[in-house]
Amino acid sequence: MDDLLRLDDQLNPDQRLIRDTVRSFVADRVLPHVGDWFEEAVFPARDLAPALGSLGLLGMHLQGYGCAGTDAVSYGVACRELEAGDSGLRSFVSVQGSLAMFPIWRYGSDEQKQEWLPRMAAGEAIGCFGLTEPDHGSDPANMRTYAKKDGTDWVLNGSKMWITNGSVADVAVVWAQTDDGIRGFVVPTTTPGFSAPEIHKKMSLRASVTSSLYFDDVRLPASAALPGVTGLRGPLSCLSEARYGIVWGVVGAARACLEAAVDYAKTRVQFGKPIGAYQLTQEKLAWMYVATAQAGLTALHLGELKDAGKLEPRQISFGKLANVRAALDIARQARTILGGNGITLEYPVIRHMNNLESVLTYEGTQEIHTLVLGEALTGMAAYR
Ligand code: FAD
Repeated sequence: MDDLLRLDDQLNPDQRLIRDTVRSFVADRVLPHVGDWFEEAVFPARDLAPALGSLGLLGMHLQGYGCAGTDAVSYGVACRELEAGDSGLRSFVSVQGSLAMFPIWRYGSDEQKQEWLPRMAAGEAIGCFGLTEPDHGSDPANMRTYAKKDGTDWVLNGSKMWITNGSVADVAVVWAQTDDGIRGFVVPTTTPGFSAPEIHKKMSLRASVTSSLYFDDVRLPASAALPGVTGLRGPLSCLSEARYGIVWGVVGAARACLEAAVDYAKTRVQFGKPIGAYQLTQEKLAWMYVATAQAGLTALHLGELKDAGKLEPRQISFGKLANVRAALDIARQARTILGGNGITLEYPVIRHMNNLESVLTYEGTQEIHTLVLGEALTGMAAYR
């Protein structure tokens, strides 16, 4: 589809190369299969992870330890192209790079970094991030998972819920209460007492592994704790990284829906004319294009702020709120253009639409990001 606003002219040659490389990876390795993965509720993490690693997409915005060390716009462009394939694919890459590798990279000991980051960057080891609990989602400060000191060891008890990659992970970054506040722990998933059953019956992000985590007297050495951070600041800083990727990613999902709708509108004939020749359809397509391009502009602007070291969490809330909402509206509008075909997995639209329901909720719900903006505008916090 034509880039009418020539938005990608803003990208430098390296960023365009990343765009084209990821786009063709998605076209070759993902799009031919993703409808089946979604229907069968599978994500071939072990097959895809080494391929994603060899493209430099895992922890790609981190420096050293085998990571590609790209700028933030490049990371965003990669997320956009991955999510044009499926939000589950982008979620895998976001969780691996921004939620599992980032805390080890930022707050970990040298030993933790050396042990995990090179293998995670290569896709040889898979990570997950355990913050949400069955009774504490939007309000993680009240989490119940507890790590108690026993001599020099830690003993971890509790549970987490909705954890992406949980059942396929080699390592979990788990956030737990301690006597000194919330801390992060690097937990190999083979540790006795750790289990991660998969959550089934999802109608969204079906091509993504989502799990519960249970910790039953999981004994960890002193060296398992992340030494560099205490308090909710730790997990929230990881979420800022991942949310930034979502701001870009959903532009890809929206673009895929728009492209499917344009193609369909040009060829589907009713009342003797292609439905794309009717003004009502053109109004929908024009609005979808405007909304997709505006979301792309927001993503690019936030990327430039991030590369300049000026990106603030409330700006990320703006981007997550605005772009996910726009992408979901675009997907729903595309669905109407495809008529009955809009509800089958023969076309990508219903898959993106259902996926975006999860993206609206995870990494801070739309309501919580609304409250962040409300606080930014009024100076008054309305969370409780
Ligand atoms: P709740 O917090 O119970 O919210 C329910 C509703 O109440 C929402 O609409 C919410 O906005 C609203 N609400 C809550 N508080 C307020 C308030 N103060 N004012 C107004 N409205 C409010 N978590 C992880 O830790 N790691 C992961 O890898 C991960 N992956 C996920 C994958 C999927 C597919 C999904 C669905 C979730 C995932 N999550 C993960 C969890 C996700 O981040 C949470 O679902 C999210 O934070 C919301 O928490 P909750 O589901 O408990 O909803």
